[in-house]
Amino acid sequence: MNFKIALIRGDGIGPEIINETVKVIDKVGEKFGHAFEYIDVLMGGCATDAIGTSYPEGTAELCKSCDAVLLGAVGGPKWGSDRPAQERPETALLAIRKDLGLYANLRPAVLRPALIDACPLKRETAEQGIDLLMLRELTGGIYFGKRGRYQTEDRGVEATDLMAYSEKEIERIGRRAFEMARLRRKKVSSVDKANVLETSRLWRSVMHRLAEEYPDVAYEDVLVDNCAMQLMRDPGQFDVVVTENMFGDILSDEASMVTGSIGLLPSASMGDGAPALYEPIHGSAPDIAGQDKANPIATILSAAMMFRYSFQLGDEADVIEEAVDKALAAGWRTADIVNLGEAIVGTRRMGEVIRENI
Ligand code: NAD
Repeated sequence: MNFKIALIRGDGIGPEIINETVKVIDKVGEKFGHAFEYIDVLMGGCATDAIGTSYPEGTAELCKSCDAVLLGAVGGPKWGSDRPAQERPETALLAIRKDLGLYANLRPAVLRPALIDACPLKRETAEQGIDLLMLRELTGGIYFGKRGRYQTEDRGVEATDLMAYSEKEIERIGRRAFEMARLRRKKVSSVDKANVLETSRLWRSVMHRLAEEYPDVAYEDVLVDNCAMQLMRDPGQFDVVVTENMFGDILSDEASMVTGSIGLLPSASMGDGAPALYEPIHGSAPDIAGQDKANPIATILSAAMMFRYSFQLGDEADVIEEAVDKALAAGWRTADIVNLGEAIVGTRRMGEVIRENI
């Protein structure tokens, strides 16, 4: 089969980790008889440097002409908050998500068997295994609500951020959670704060309605504060965890920590129709950029998700994930996941070892 992939290499370690990932994708193509065409898309701080805007005109159209989008990372201190909005890389990230209608963010948090020691939880908890999928609503809620500041008479300046969710927004992400659970261990944990927030009460009522449509999937409501605690106490209990934008932002970072390293975790953002976007959960790591130190695994596993969800090629995805596990089991470590006394390899060597295992 032939696929067209938009590559947003971006800033910092972005180009290095995308380079290794492209070579992995080509290796999979060789093994299974697929061909890939890559379209380079300029976006982020590098675009600001080149043409004065982080989100050049036509970026979304270029991405829409492809079957999937693979993003390294964008941003860095060079393009900080003192710059006008159109020069800041974060503006481009929000714009691409909006233009591609990416409302569902998937972050698997998997403790890779060879890295049990990197898990900060108790060993007996880690040994039970962690394999959960965080599903975060990405385009609604308090991050996109009306905000403002105003002067009060007696309390100084006051600020507000409005949190709003519609039934339609909740239903489309909720449905995805049940569909994803059907492909996994058939359990959905819906996280809210229904004891306090009206948006959460609406969220819960829509989720309950959906749960009746999916009787084969086990369903539970979890309050967000309890969820934060359970992720530390017993993360193995979770399969698919679905929640609104801000809760998901916080909980997905917490879930990523229990798996050991930020350099290992992939993600996908999806909408209806337009191509999905795959990226590591980490940023552009300017502190190690250009030094052959970055761990390419999160980006390589993002490519595995791309095979599974955008190309419907599960075997190819499995082969990539198994190649990563084999490299780790054989003791190959980048600096971020190394234990005292172990040898360290760089970005390029780690990529090479993973390809050798494909
Ligand atoms: P970061 O994820 O870039 O780095 C945090 C720490 O983790 C650093 O010490 C870094 O060296 C390390 N790290 C990150 N990825 C690694 C990898 N693959 N291998 C080894 N070590 C790794 O987060 P930050 O420092 O808060 O942000 C840096 C820049 O990235 C900022 O400009 C931020 O806005 C941007 N950012 C971009 C995205 C994105 O493109 N989606 C996401 C988050 C942050």
